[in-house]
Amino acid sequence: MTTSTPSPLSSEVLLLVGPPGAGKGTQAEKLARARRLKKLSTGDMLRDHVAQGTALGQAAKTVMDAGELVSDALIIEMVRGELSRQPTVRVLLDGFPRTVVQAEALDALLSELGAAITAVVLIEVSADELVARIVKRAHEQGRTDDDEETVRTRMQVYSDQTAPLIAYYEGRGKLRRVGGIGKVEEVFARVSEVLL
Ligand code: AMP
Repeated sequence: MTTSTPSPLSSEVLLLVGPPGAGKGTQAEKLARARRLKKLSTGDMLRDHVAQGTALGQAAKTVMDAGELVSDALIIEMVRGELSRQPTVRVLLDGFPRTVVQAEALDALLSELGAAITAVVLIEVSADELVARIVKRAHEQGRTDDDEETVRTRMQVYSDQTAPLIAYYEGRGKLRRVGGIGKVEEVFARVSEVLL
């Protein structure tokens, strides 16, 4: 008689959504570690391409520095490559999807892979708090897409192109809202609580 060993971990797909400066990156790190998920950050992936000077990186850099979004087609292919490589889809997506087109592509891709979105965590922070945080981060990290004008563009891009995802996931019963003001640990406690 043959017995198959069940996979110890089943598929899980968490998304973190929120405006630039909401603290997604920090919460993503902690959440991925706590739930044993692979963190996929499209911003980090793009910055790697830029650092390595790949064709993709060269195409993306000007767009990123301007605070605009890289094309959906390019991002979707990049994510498809990463997700298809996972033996079991256990991922935390940070900074993707950023548009409804990307969200629809993600649904299709996950269903091809036999997985589905578990939950979408929206980190909410007021606009004034965000600008202050991002300008501070620019000084600390020297990010070239963090000067004040670019920050405003990124905010505008978020409200025009990414905020519609809130209704998209709310309508599908996936959205969990979390207040993003407070210490990292406090916000993380709230994130963990909405995922219980
Ligand atoms: P982030 O680190 O997530 O703030 O991303 C930095 C920059 O990378 C963004 O301002 C965009 O130019 C680009 N980027 C990252 N993720 C995406 C995405 N899902 N779609 C389009 N552009 C993206």
